[in-house]
Amino acid sequence: MTARSLNGRALARQRNQALKSRIAALPRPPGLAVVLVGEDPASQIYVRRKGVVAGRLGIAHQQIDLPADATQEALLAVIDRLNDDTSVDGILVQLPLPRHLDATVVMDRIDPAKDADGLHPTNTGLLVQGRAGLIACTPHGCMHLLRESGEELSGRDAVVIGRSNIVGRPMAALLEQANCTVTLCHSRTRDLESIVRRSDVVVAAVGRPNLIRGEWIKPGAVVIDVGMNRLEDGSLAGDVFFDEAREVAGAITPVPGGVGPMTIAMLMENTVRAAEARLGRDAM
Ligand code: NAP
Repeated sequence: MTARSLNGRALARQRNQALKSRIAALPRPPGLAVVLVGEDPASQIYVRRKGVVAGRLGIAHQQIDLPADATQEALLAVIDRLNDDTSVDGILVQLPLPRHLDATVVMDRIDPAKDADGLHPTNTGLLVQGRAGLIACTPHGCMHLLRESGEELSGRDAVVIGRSNIVGRPMAALLEQANCTVTLCHSRTRDLESIVRRSDVVVAAVGRPNLIRGEWIKPGAVVIDVGMNRLEDGSLAGDVFFDEAREVAGAITPVPGGVGPMTIAMLMENTVRAAEARLGRDAM
């Protein structure tokens, strides 16, 4: 059996297309501000892509570049200014930050109503309680890819590998709300292989190329590979050994072209949602 490939690029295009009428219905274009500290080449690529998609959709996009040695105070001052700027609906600080900056303090400073990445503790708390908020982009994109697979999620065994605040933890919460029985694994998990073997849904968010082998995958399982690992030859690999896993899985996301484009699409959706909430509130 060869797995169905879950095409994140095509799904992201559809989602972006569907946003256009919502954007057109707003009294002004939604505003997205992306803050980039330093010159990490991967971060520069991600930020550029976000700007390109925002531009295509008619989202007013601004990029604020700070030098790698920017102080915490300088970065917090930028966030304060963006929080107060009424033309800005969504704020994203590109991670990772240089080591001398405290990402937790920085993310906490963003107005939760403008938290386009959905990583502020207010939004994370709402998510865990199953209440409306801005949902973390990557896990939200993964949920859309899972629904695209057409597989019933309710009652299924799901494993999330990786427990970061950005991906693994919110992913586990979303799967639990879809009525999966969820196991959240991490570097101290004993016998990861046997947990993956019994799982109908596998979400890998580790950052280790080809960690999950094809023989671990339950036949017919849906596999979402969040991992983006740059190999020595410059190519990208996921956390799942794709060529092995696609012979066993029912559906699988490729890397690249799976989760990545959906993360950007969800960023656009969060920005539009934030703008709708803000402009609706302003109109009242
Ligand atoms: P992270 O913060 O480094 O977290 C990695 C997690 O993996 C940790 O919870 C760690 O466990 C766990 N882990 C490490 N080694 C393990 C092992 N051998 N077995 C089981 N678990 C292990 O990473 P992240 O930010 O979540 O990102 C994960 C990957 O997703 C990276 O490749 C990243 O580039 C990619 N990513 C992609 C997108 C996208 O849009 N496509 C977005 C975000 C991230 P401990 O907690 O015990 O240390």
